[in-house]
Amino acid sequence: MRIPRALCVTLLAVFGAALLAGLSPAWAQVFNGADLCHATSPQPKSTDALPAHFSCEGTPQAYQDSSLWLRIPARDLPADIAEEPALLVHYSRFDRLDVTFLYTDGTRARESVRNGDFAGHWRIGGQLEFAPPVRTAPLQDIVLHFNRLASQDMLRLRLVGRDEAASRTTTLALWVGGALTLLLIGTLYNAVLAVSLRRQFPLWQAAWSGGMLLWGTIWSQAHLMLVPGLAGAFSAQLCSALACLAITCATFSAITSIGSHDVPRIVRRTVLTLATLCSLFGLPVSFIRTGPVDLLAAIIGVLLMLTMLSVGGCLAFAWRKGSAEARNFATAWIFPIILLSTADFVGSSTLFRGGGPQLMVIFAAAWQTLWLAAAASRTHARLRQEHAAARRAEAQARELARRDPLTSLRNRRGFIEMIEPILAEVTHGREVAALLLLDIDFFKHINDTYGHDTGDDVLVALARTLAARENARCIAARLGGEEFALLLSGPAALRAAMIAEDLRRTIAAARPGDPDAGGTVLPPIPGLAMTVSFGVCPAIPGEVFRDLYRKADAALYRAKHEGRDRVVVAAPGNDAPRDRGQLEPVSG
Ligand code: GH3
Ligand code: MG
Ligand code: MG
Repeated sequence: MRIPRALCVTLLAVFGAALLAGLSPAWAQVFNGADLCHATSPQPKSTDALPAHFSCEGTPQAYQDSSLWLRIPARDLPADIAEEPALLVHYSRFDRLDVTFLYTDGTRARESVRNGDFAGHWRIGGQLEFAPPVRTAPLQDIVLHFNRLASQDMLRLRLVGRDEAASRTTTLALWVGGALTLLLIGTLYNAVLAVSLRRQFPLWQAAWSGGMLLWGTIWSQAHLMLVPGLAGAFSAQLCSALACLAITCATFSAITSIGSHDVPRIVRRTVLTLATLCSLFGLPVSFIRTGPVDLLAAIIGVLLMLTMLSVGGCLAFAWRKGSAEARNFATAWIFPIILLSTADFVGSSTLFRGGGPQLMVIFAAAWQTLWLAAAASRTHARLRQEHAAARRAEAQARELARRDPLTSLRNRRGFIEMIEPILAEVTHGREVAALLLLDIDFFKHINDTYGHDTGDDVLVALARTLAARENARCIAARLGGEEFALLLSGPAALRAAMIAEDLRRTIAAARPGDPDAGGTVLPPIPGLAMTVSFGVCPAIPGEVFRDLYRKADAALYRAKHEGRDRVVVAAPGNDAPRDRGQLEPVSG
């Protein structure tokens, strides 16, 4: 998870640089639509004639369905702007805009854009640029003539030097491109997480960052490269609608990530309802062109703020209860969300003169989405580790259940599980196998004479001897008490009696505390000795363990009966054991 983290750090650095750039001292003359002298006419019209009189008092009335003229005084511009000025307009909710440049010698120049056709005037970063022709006479005024402007209050205008405008636009385009790329990565990453984690919140997170990606693309007007016909009011309306949807998705992502035990269900429901209302109310209002647009925008702003505050409350509450998800969200989430809700509805600050707060929003959204994706991946990785550890522990427990705690050899259950597949192979004629049953002679006597602990040590010594011989073709087990077993397969099975005899001798030769050639180390108690009796039985096709065991046990019984410390081989196919001499020669 280093890469997303590195991306986040880079993003923060870029974001910091952007903030500093945005705070840089005046490089433009900024005007707010509401502060300009104005004139209205009842019908929307397109004419070269400018109004005879501009009122600089009060606010214009009923301009949303008619024409509004605004006059920007351009007489006393600073030299670097006045030389080659450019007018940047940050608002596109109108049907048509004619910009008339008035020079001190009485000449004029005019440029126009209309809804659906911004020609060459649109710039990345949600701005329209109008550049008056340079004449010997300086500019006196600029008159903007809007048809069906949605809100004069939200209109932001800047007069800048043309070179400055070009370089700012290029920088802005780079920032916007970078931020949108990060959002795209965040969207895809979260979508992949949603599929692999099978959880709701990365899906909402992907929806939120996807929404923000769309929002950023449309706000910055980058989409006009592909669909120039979308220029204007419709795109701006789409932006507001997307902002509402994105906030709803973000709220769902935050609340679904917290977990039902950290926040009371009723509170979760209330917040989710509030978030849904934001979209239900915000979507239609976003597309309203006339009427109390400012008031409705303010209402949505309040609704969004309420949602944000309640989500913030939930996060804080869950954080205090120790929810790691809540902590992640609280640090990554609240900041871009508040920016988003204020940027689009409450009004626009003049802090970021380049891209406005919107640029900050997409950077913050990209940062947030990647941060959370990184956090979710970390959680995912941890869960995977925990899952693997649990599986290992489970496998260990299963293995333990198949082992004898005293000798660590397989117990009867583990033995049967291991040898059943071998017996199946015997049935299919692909394998030969033989069972050796071993029982310590007069073990009770050992216990009685030397104590139970010494008896245990003797059992462990014999188990070690058998374990040393274990391999893929020799499986050892303690079937119970002082009874052990070996299952031989392959060539060793054909020499089962010889092997048993060899083992018998090795064990019988063991001296207390003295390792013999076979590795049996009896406890160092003077006089201690051990012998073992063997029942050997070759497996025949179709035989299950129980039958094979019964025959080997009968052979063992005979070995005991005939005086112990010997090997008796059962005759294949019937239960009657016979002496080892009847099968194959035993070495030694
Ligand atoms: P035989 O030669 O006929 O097999 O005689 P034996 O004494 O070995 O057989 P018997 O069945 O009479 O006694 C087996 C003894 O093994 C009885 C029991 O207390 C002892 N035993 C069983 N499990 C353990 C164990 O885990 N540790 C110890 N120390 N003794 C055990
Ligand atoms: Mg015994
Ligand atoms: Mg016994």
